[in-house]
Amino acid sequence: MRALVTGGAGFIGSHLCERLLEAGYDHVVCVDNFLTGSRDNVARLMKNPRFQLISSDVTHGIVIDDQVDVVLHFASPASPADYLRHPLATLRVGAEGTRHALELAVEHGARFVLASTSETYGDPEVHPQPESYWGNVNPVGPRSCYDEAKRYAEALTMAYRRARGANAGIVRIFNTFGPRMRPGDGRVVPTLVCQALGGTPMTVTGDGSQTRSLCYVDDLVDGVLRMLDVTEAGPVNLGNPHEVTMLELARWIRTLTGSRSEIVQVPLPADDPKRRRPDITRAGALLGWQPRTPLEEGLLRTIEWFAARGEVALTVPTPASPEARLAVDIRR
Ligand code: NAD
Repeated sequence: MRALVTGGAGFIGSHLCERLLEAGYDHVVCVDNFLTGSRDNVARLMKNPRFQLISSDVTHGIVIDDQVDVVLHFASPASPADYLRHPLATLRVGAEGTRHALELAVEHGARFVLASTSETYGDPEVHPQPESYWGNVNPVGPRSCYDEAKRYAEALTMAYRRARGANAGIVRIFNTFGPRMRPGDGRVVPTLVCQALGGTPMTVTGDGSQTRSLCYVDDLVDGVLRMLDVTEAGPVNLGNPHEVTMLELARWIRTLTGSRSEIVQVPLPADDPKRRRPDITRAGALLGWQPRTPLEEGLLRTIEWFAARGEVALTVPTPASPEARLAVDIRR
């Protein structure tokens, strides 16, 4: 079995490549132009002869000589800071990039999975969000380059399924976190973790009452792999229904890092969704999937990863105390 992962040098894509190899795929090809990804993310995989890295922009086409059995289309800027910096590239990869990935899948008779997003629900008026909800997206707001690119990518995927017989499916990914997020990518977990570890003020947008549901990356990847094994179109929500306010999250991270950073409020970005929580009934019924990693455990693994990179020494007390499972000794 041969897998192609577009955006495979990104945060989720690199975890996917790793897990596909572990799952026994004979060959995993990663296509990435490093717009928001990095070679470091796949450095370990480069030693594996079953892994191949192609440096290329998928909006210009995807050239693969060998047979491909599954295509996972994950290329796209994903953090608000990234897609606001690259609005045109975001629209192009959602449109042209998705078309090229679908063409390749049809040509090879491969299973295709599109990485869509909970952003297709916009600022939702229905809570939690089931896949049947059509969303509340501002089509001309600053976030629309991402939201509408993904909505178009979903429409294109369904059109290829109907008109070209593509064996294509869509997963709508909710906020996912874990090792290999970029410290400065603007997403809430790396931002708060790095601020806490660095002892600088932890910034919470608005009054911090807005919620997100955070899924640990290993769980998310497990759901994506299951989507490869079925022929259904979905869309299927993949996310962790455990909802936390941003203020609660900041306090958790401060406790888990043992940081003394103060929590400060900064203005809310435009069109920021107030609440997010996936209804994962369909993922359970179709894929037998549910997230397994508790938020605290996922946060600890993520904190350890960032701390190790920042040369911040960690001492993990045993057994874990309820108040601070992780004591962080910041030696800067
Ligand atoms: P990421 O930015 O870390 O990874 C995206 C990768 O795509 C990067 O390596 C980037 O260089 C690559 N890329 C971008 N444009 C490209 C192009 N034209 N050609 C080739 N490669 C290109 O983001 P991520 O968090 O890993 O997200 C991966 C996918 O999952 C994205 O499609 C994103 O929309 C989706 N998603 C992620 C989340 C999340 O919480 N992380 C939530 C919803 C959806």
